[in-house]
Amino acid sequence: MKKTVVLTFKETTWDKPIVYKLIKDFDLVFNILKAEISPNKEGLLVLEITGSEEAFNDGINYLKRFDIAITSIEKEVTRIEKKCLHCGLCTATCPTKALYVNRETMEVIFDVSKCIACDACIKICPPRAMKVGFRN
Ligand code: SF4
Ligand code: SF4
Repeated sequence: MKKTVVLTFKETTWDKPIVYKLIKDFDLVFNILKAEISPNKEGLLVLEITGSEEAFNDGINYLKRFDIAITSIEKEVTRIEKKCLHCGLCTATCPTKALYVNRETMEVIFDVSKCIACDACIKICPPRAMKVGFRN
């Protein structure tokens, strides 16, 4: 599973080596999507974490031991309909068939309910019609 979380660090925790333990001790992998330190030394880290559900829960419980606020956000892939050329390129890369060709109309349909937000279609789409965003 893959989840995106926002971690907000207080002045007392932002410079501590806490987060790397998610990899070392909890067998999780993460991508840093955003990292910011405000002038009052509060830190904000947006991480995309990959691992088993059990490892994810253990890792989050570990983070909760520190003075860190944790919010889970979900990644969301959308299509800008007016940009889509219905070229069909994305249908070959979509692992869940969320993008498929309607054989009657030859239009490429985006079934958002099947999308697992894997991002495979984002880079491959020539007019950049597929977009990734976040929702709380
Ligand atoms: S690759 Fe982009 S333009 Fe082509 S069908 Fe898919 S979403 Fe539309
Ligand atoms: S993000 Fe992945 S699952 Fe969703 S439409 Fe694109 S390729 Fe398919």
